[in-house]
Amino acid sequence: MSDVPIKKLEPKIRQGLVVILTGNGKGKTTSALGMALRACGHRQRTIIVQFMKGDLYSGEWDGVELLAPLVTLHHTGKGFCGIEGNPYPHSEHRANAQEALLLVEDILRRDQCDLLILDEINNALQLALVDLEQVKALLALRPPHMHLVLTGRDAHPELVAMADTVSEVREIKHAYRRHIEPQPGIDF
Ligand code: ATP
Ligand code: MG
Repeated sequence: MSDVPIKKLEPKIRQGLVVILTGNGKGKTTSALGMALRACGHRQRTIIVQFMKGDLYSGEWDGVELLAPLVTLHHTGKGFCGIEGNPYPHSEHRANAQEALLLVEDILRRDQCDLLILDEINNALQLALVDLEQVKALLALRPPHMHLVLTGRDAHPELVAMADTVSEVREIKHAYRRHIEPQPGIDF
């Protein structure tokens, strides 16, 4: 253990930020989960709403229980719309995503957290499960102190223009290209 005194910075002005994590490489959802973990250290409250996630188990569903009550997660939908092997029609995926939007609207209106993560919402928009105007309406409801993180490939340029911080995760390599199966802890 180092004996260096620890400083904790306090910004002159606290303000909520809109962050977009996009791109085709691995690390968007897990980066957002990392922010939830970091927020916990500041005793901030995080709510994660996942779009199109419901048919395949992912470790964060139970992992966030270890961070309760500071982090809560709602996974909505029936898996990735249009992906091979997903049997549900577009209309059903859209209905699920529309329900998720109502949940998000309620969280925003009731100012229920410090960090709100909308996981895979960029894909939901790209796949027309939600509409651009609807996402913009949610952004307009964001309380000024609340951080909002939008993840998923193909972020809409209008949302990119509105965001404060945007990162693109670019694939250099992915194990799946060598036919290595998804591994627990790393991939799900
Ligand atoms: P992660 O959840 O690991 O942070 P991500 O959110 O950046 O990944 P998504 O596009 O949401 O990536 O994909 C989720 C899952 O698909 C993860 O298990 C990830 O390892 C895997 N994945 C990411 N990129 C690719 C790719 N190019 N091809 C196939 N699978 C991928
Ligand atoms: Mg993801």
